[in-house]
Amino acid sequence: MRAELIDGKKIAESMRAELRPEIEALRAKGVVPGLAVVLVGEDPASQVYVRMKGKACEQLGMHSETIRLAAETTEADLLGVVARLNGDPMIHGMLVQLPLPDHINETRVLHAILPSKDADGFHPENVGKVSIGDPTGFRPATPYGVQQMLVKAGVTTRGAHVVIVGRSNIVGRPMASLLLHKGDGGDATVTVCHSRTRDIGAVTRQADILIVAMGKPEFIRGDMVKPGAAVVDVGVNRVDDPSVEKGYRLVGDVAFAEAAEVASKITPVPGGVGPMTITMLLYNAVQAARQWAT
Ligand code: NAP
Repeated sequence: MRAELIDGKKIAESMRAELRPEIEALRAKGVVPGLAVVLVGEDPASQVYVRMKGKACEQLGMHSETIRLAAETTEADLLGVVARLNGDPMIHGMLVQLPLPDHINETRVLHAILPSKDADGFHPENVGKVSIGDPTGFRPATPYGVQQMLVKAGVTTRGAHVVIVGRSNIVGRPMASLLLHKGDGGDATVTVCHSRTRDIGAVTRQADILIVAMGKPEFIRGDMVKPGAAVVDVGVNRVDDPSVEKGYRLVGDVAFAEAAEVASKITPVPGGVGPMTITMLLYNAVQAARQWAT
């Protein structure tokens, strides 16, 4: 392997440690940053993420509340829970774990969250603020994590051509916004690709920094990466593997072994973007508590 590994787990741990003094300062003022996570249904991956989020909060001395609702919960009942959390003074940030069951309108639920408590940054008010560079807006945790990981790994975005594959509201689009901001972790020239992009390899091969968030296992092959590029793989996909006890393994959207022969730096899956996402969620909850306290 030629590329240097970007260790998301290690960077996430050091960033969590940096958050501690701020949490302590808030606690000293009588404000214990509180994060609520609402989970509807039994999706196994969501259950794992929700558990990890609760645990991470507790480790940092934050208040955490997990509300587990049955898969058949009605939209009205879920909106009732959101309204209760909107009014709960112990809760500064909250999120409703996605995806939601089909009978619930995701947009209506996300829009019901008070923008000042919207730790995931999916409410249009925060989307707007992030897009115009207003620092009081909550940055969605995954692209925020990718941006911070690049900064900490010494990958310069200023003036770099960043190609993002994927235009979802959760990853691709806000990623482009953050990279266009002025200052550290921004100032990039950004191209966003999606399923209608023609000759995607010709575009990805131009990237100094390639960020992939497609949900397509190992789609990006080594010959789609520019020699020396930094590669960030956001994808998390389960692929069948009868040789392991669980019967599956996790792979990214990038064919890691091939890309690692061409890139200068690369994130692994797992252990890359995932731990950063949870860390940035904690940052958002602390930001919400700070904004609430002032
Ligand atoms: P999504 O909403 O399904 O969006 C996928 C994007 O990829 C879409 O914009 C789609 O284009 C594009 N795409 C799909 N097939 C393509 C193709 N053949 N060529 C070019 N573009 C293609 O997914 P998402 O929520 O952004 O998530 C993407 C991946 O990241 C998933 O594997 C997810 O599990 C992972 N993820 C990881 C974390 C983490 O913390 N590690 C967090 C969030 C997501 P169109 O818009 O044209 O359909």
